[in-house]
Amino acid sequence: MALIVQKYGGTSVGDTDRMKNVARRCIAAQKAGNDVVVVVSAMSGETNRLLKLVAQITDRPSEREQDVVVATGEQVSIGLVAMAIQAQGGLATSFLGHQVQIVTDSIFSKARIKRIDADKIVEALKQKHIVVVAGFQGQDEQGNVTTLGRGGSDTTAVALAAALKADACEIYTDVDGVYTTDPNVCPAARKLDRISYEEMLDLASVGAKVLQIRSVEFAMKYKVPLWVKSSFTDDPGTLVCEEDKSMENVVVSGIAYDKNEAKLAISGVPDVPGVAAKIFGALDAQNIVVDLIVQTASKDGKTDLSFTVGKTDLVKAKEVVERVTKDINAGGVETDGDVAKVSIVGVGMRNHSGVAAKMFQILASEGINIQLISTSEIKVSCLIQSKYTELAVRALHTAFGLDKAPAAS
Ligand code: ADP
Ligand code: ASP
Ligand code: MG
Repeated sequence: MALIVQKYGGTSVGDTDRMKNVARRCIAAQKAGNDVVVVVSAMSGETNRLLKLVAQITDRPSEREQDVVVATGEQVSIGLVAMAIQAQGGLATSFLGHQVQIVTDSIFSKARIKRIDADKIVEALKQKHIVVVAGFQGQDEQGNVTTLGRGGSDTTAVALAAALKADACEIYTDVDGVYTTDPNVCPAARKLDRISYEEMLDLASVGAKVLQIRSVEFAMKYKVPLWVKSSFTDDPGTLVCEEDKSMENVVVSGIAYDKNEAKLAISGVPDVPGVAAKIFGALDAQNIVVDLIVQTASKDGKTDLSFTVGKTDLVKAKEVVERVTKDINAGGVETDGDVAKVSIVGVGMRNHSGVAAKMFQILASEGINIQLISTSEIKVSCLIQSKYTELAVRALHTAFGLDKAPAAS
């Protein structure tokens, strides 16, 4: 008998008919001879609705209380899905994060899972129950409710699959697999049958929201066979797995974009040792993750420093940076939320030169200005004005030969 963890995202539990569909699929998986654990997200739009309520109260919410609010969306889903399974004649029990004992650190809104004590799940599975677990949430050592960051239900599912030594983890969503880029932005996107953990990790890290980055980290570390499938079709989907030789032949295997970053630019930064350490140390102390960084050449002992942070951290980051710029005697701080990061990813880049230059040429030929750049062994990212995102993604997709063959007429 196999143990399968299935995860259904917001669209897949978007209304009660869709929840009944999820219940049917879980029961079918159990009837096929499997133990089934199902992780569900909040109904689509619900987490955003809850965050809007928070924003109506304050733009500097207590992060602890914000997590108390946003974690509620998943509670509604697990109760309804468990009932839908029962209504179809199955046995089901729902669990919240703290009931399972998904223990996290205390970084509210982006907590990391430290350990899972799955005894209750194992017990319920022995009783032949389908176990329905709330995604996205946990509790810290002090018993506070925590959440795992947007898209965090993916991570709940993979972490549970690792803890339970599941035979497979299946992520059911509103597309039928991982594509060469977001199929909702680029109609020529091609579905991949397989993708390496490493490439998926990089695609997720640069914004391909089909899987949360931490879910891929867990899958890679614990070698969880991870499938991305549609909850609306029976397509086999995409398998995220170990890299093999054939994958290296493809130079660029995917393109991603991220509109959730914002840029901060500090002018007149004294060009002396220790200044960058002060600025980024202060941001780190507030758990603000910095992504792209660029420093201009020094002129009259001063430089300009630009970098990006997550949009949700912008208000906090600006406050921190304004404080530090006073200390170090820098000029002003400007922010720009109207930016997007477009990235190309591929393990084949290790063996090919000129890939970054080609990306810059393609963006230039579309008249798109590049504000910040970052490169790593298997990815290149460019920050551009947000309104050009779709144009950039499509142009890069075509130029790097990723477009699917046009349908025969
Ligand atoms: P869920 O609510 O099921 O977690 P998400 O909205 O978080 O679903 O993720 C699925 C979405 O990810 C798709 O609808 C698609 O727009 C987007 N996406 C971005 N990049 C990719 C990609 N490379 N392959 C497939 N989907 C992608
Ligand atoms: N409901 C959470 C979100 O919208 C978690 C998830 O769906 O994965 O981000
Ligand atoms: Mg998601």
